[in-house]
Amino acid sequence: MANTFFRNNAPQILPNGQPVPAPVELTFSDVLKRSAEIQTMDIRGNSASGVLTDGTPYTATITYDPELLSQISQNGAQVSIDASKTWVDYLGTWVPILMGLFFIWWIFRGFKGGAGGLSRALTQQNPTKITTGKTKTTFQDVAGIDSEKQELMEIVDFLKNKEKFQAVGARVPRGILLSGEPGTGKTLLARAIAGEANVPFFAASGSDFSGIIVGLGVAKIKEIFDMAKKNAPCILFIDEIDAIGQRRSTHSYNDQDREQTLNQLLIEMDGFSNDTGIIVIGATNRSDMLDPALLRPGRFDRQVYIELPDLAGRREILDLYAKKVKVSPDVNLQDLARGTTGFSGADLENLLNEAALLAVRNGRTEIAPADVEEARDKILMGPRKIRKMRPEDIKLTAYHEAGHAFVSVMYADVTDPIHKATIIPRGRALGMVQHLPIDDKVSMTISEVRANLAVALAGRCAEEIFFGPDKITTGAESDIAMATRLARYSITTAGLSPKIGLAAINQVNNFGNRTALENASEKTAELVDAEVRAWLDDAHANAAKILAKNKDTVRKLAEELLARETLTGEEIKEIVHGKATTSARKTTKTTRKNAKNK
Ligand code: ADP
Ligand code: ZN
Repeated sequence: MANTFFRNNAPQILPNGQPVPAPVELTFSDVLKRSAEIQTMDIRGNSASGVLTDGTPYTATITYDPELLSQISQNGAQVSIDASKTWVDYLGTWVPILMGLFFIWWIFRGFKGGAGGLSRALTQQNPTKITTGKTKTTFQDVAGIDSEKQELMEIVDFLKNKEKFQAVGARVPRGILLSGEPGTGKTLLARAIAGEANVPFFAASGSDFSGIIVGLGVAKIKEIFDMAKKNAPCILFIDEIDAIGQRRSTHSYNDQDREQTLNQLLIEMDGFSNDTGIIVIGATNRSDMLDPALLRPGRFDRQVYIELPDLAGRREILDLYAKKVKVSPDVNLQDLARGTTGFSGADLENLLNEAALLAVRNGRTEIAPADVEEARDKILMGPRKIRKMRPEDIKLTAYHEAGHAFVSVMYADVTDPIHKATIIPRGRALGMVQHLPIDDKVSMTISEVRANLAVALAGRCAEEIFFGPDKITTGAESDIAMATRLARYSITTAGLSPKIGLAAINQVNNFGNRTALENASEKTAELVDAEVRAWLDDAHANAAKILAKNKDTVRKLAEELLARETLTGEEIKEIVHGKATTSARKTTKTTRKNAKNK
């Protein structure tokens, strides 16, 4: 560059007739030192060239410095600055930009996993409009989750007969949150609602909204809602909604963007009126992580939890998919349903599909029992960790849950009504008994506390009574933790223990947190520990007495649970009251007397 410049602007022959000497190369400090010798200087970017007073051409690399310039020009040198740009200069500006674009493209390509790059990534921002008009999916395609289907029927009705609801002034839900393990049919159900109501179905995934481009999420939320508004009535399905709707807590940079996206979602949901006819269906398997703001009235105010299918449900799902493949009559679907505890609908569909492939590989024309067996093992070892439960574990779980359920029914007048008991694993839990609170309870009476403690410890009690003290398991961990918390809270914070009195010993700011004992002397702390233990022992004794007196009924309950896996509150009460003998209330009174005597 410097040479070109030199040839064009400097004389080829010096005035004294000598040929032009080769240019000298000056460093920046040379330039500073010899500034008095500089006759001309042409500057372009960081390059300077010109002639010295003795006629020697020079080139130099300089740093732009106004002071240097004024110094040189003060010495009488001619300075010109060329601001026009050569392609090389453009290169200098554009290379980083192009590299940046390439980088973005590369990342997008990585995210979207395939060819097509940026353009595809950008166009894919549009939610896929899967169906307009008639959808093929209906509730007939969803098996084994009847109660959930029933709950969602109303939504279909609303979409079909909007006027009917408006005439009564009914407030229809705008958002429904489907939660449950992956593969339990949340997407399928959402699609079936659209299909049944004969409205368009739009689907997007929460993970699409959080990208590397800040602000993209907000724009995309606007976009999908605009599209939904144009096509109302319709279903707008947002899968993995936890990716946007996570509890707002931390304040990292990433979270700020997500928070904006979440805010936009809330704005959109608050924005459309009841008669718009857009039903937003969100799906998640982490509903506990969702920001409470999402669950307020007018937003996702209806929650439907989709359980892993129970025995009957699995049978129905297997029957549904068995129709689509050829299954040998030797395959016992009921046995298969029995042996697939913990499988989701998707797992079951996958199982039959695998079995069909194996049948072909084994040269068969229909699925044989061996294919089913092999497919089941393959899926059990597959990427989705299905807890493989040993039959003895399942049996113990059934008795454990039966213990909770029975004692709970016995204390029906002081505890929340039992909703259901199940031995289907969920998360870390092997089984559970759910209670439904009757009303928003803000406080508990002391008898309620004692009853709840007995119910909590009844699971372990049942293990002891039916399997013996050597067979008790760690499965009661969370029961014991919960009972201890409740007892400690009642004694140290709520002033329910006459022995400790009304002193607040540790301010438990959060019911779930157990903080160290504060404002208590060593002696009081010991008293508290003893009192907590006494309450728990008492509750355990209560539960043990109730269970021991009704062993047959509890056994029946457990066997019924083993057979059906899930029992509703009604079913439990039927089994219990068919044979119930002792009234719990009597037991409570006597034990409370005992407690006083202690
Ligand atoms: P999720 O959205 O809960 O992860 P999907 O709806 O995507 O689950 O389920 C994946 C597939 O598994 C469905 O397309 C369907 O083929 C099958 N499936 C899951 N649950 C059921 C069910 N209850 N009845 C019939 N098929 C089901
Ligand atoms: Zn338990």
